[in-house]
Amino acid sequence: MTDLKSQTPEELTKTLKAMGEPAFRGKQVFTWLHKGVGSFDEMTNLSKALREKLAGTCAFTPPKAVRKQVSKLDGTIKYLWELADGNCIESVLMQYHHGNTVCISSQVGCRMGCAFCASTIAGKVRDLTPGELLDQVIFTQKDSGLPISNIVLMGIGEPMDNLDNVLKFLELVNHPDGLNIGMRHISLSTCGVIPGIERLAELGLQLTLSVSLHAPDGETRSKIMPVNRAYPVEDLFAACRRYFERTGRRISFEYAMIDGVNDHDWQADLIAEKVRGMPGHVNLIPLNDVVESPFKPSKRTAAFQKRLETHGLTATVRRSLGGDIDASCGQLRRKAMEEQKGE
Ligand code: SAH
Repeated sequence: MTDLKSQTPEELTKTLKAMGEPAFRGKQVFTWLHKGVGSFDEMTNLSKALREKLAGTCAFTPPKAVRKQVSKLDGTIKYLWELADGNCIESVLMQYHHGNTVCISSQVGCRMGCAFCASTIAGKVRDLTPGELLDQVIFTQKDSGLPISNIVLMGIGEPMDNLDNVLKFLELVNHPDGLNIGMRHISLSTCGVIPGIERLAELGLQLTLSVSLHAPDGETRSKIMPVNRAYPVEDLFAACRRYFERTGRRISFEYAMIDGVNDHDWQADLIAEKVRGMPGHVNLIPLNDVVESPFKPSKRTAAFQKRLETHGLTATVRRSLGGDIDASCGQLRRKAMEEQKGE
């Protein structure tokens, strides 16, 4: 079955031409798909014959919201989507002053193995297709009725481990005939896969790169993030520097505060030393308690922030949304998997 959702208008035009259709059908189908129709039958400006032909040869598999949690505190909505093959992924919709932001998953599971993260516990099952990445945005918007203006690739999975599909998704979601979400409204978060950072730098896209730093010293970082053994933090800082020089875009460093592990003053000093001269921003994240993980949230967040600031760095503490739902990525999928096991 052809995966139409993953195709650009140009590719769709080719696909439809091969079915004997005029060129303009490509754009028509693209527009319908990006509106989030539920079936080919809803594409009312196509003939019945064509709709039937499409239904017979092309996949039409919008994700199913199998769970939906709405925070009573701040309206954050978390979706557990079931994909066509039965796998589940999560997306989270957050309402900020600057617009509604959806956090999407890039893979089913993750193989990066960060010790504090729920998404990686059962490893990676598979990559998401460009269409599955896009559907999270389309159907979160459709189901919630809230127009989405921003996207963060910070859900389950490592975007750089599925970069071809992620790049194709960016092209689709950025397209004027589709959702038309600008690159400056999109953030991509990586645990530090250097070749991916370099590829993005080459492309010079105007998106925001977030780097999950979590420790500035190799010893600590290797303990909590196995990726550091393949791409040491020293090289990561150098790659970030090149990325900034190439794109002119400041990098956001994510830093989950873990009690007694990465919250010492000397680590704040080391961050400052490493990012000197590189306009960046450190985002301190209160660690989400993951049942399976031995790590506890740090109590030194405010002190650590002050310490960074004495070095002239901008550091913010991430406001936690959806505290009353399992809004930290990977947790809802974990819970559903555990419950299934128990059944
Ligand atoms: N793989 C990508 C994107 C997904 S994770 C990456 O690593 O950046 C999104 C962010 O949540 C990352 O910064 C990740 O390190 C962080 N994170 C994972 N588990 C967490 C937890 N228990 N508490 C706080 N942040 C966590």
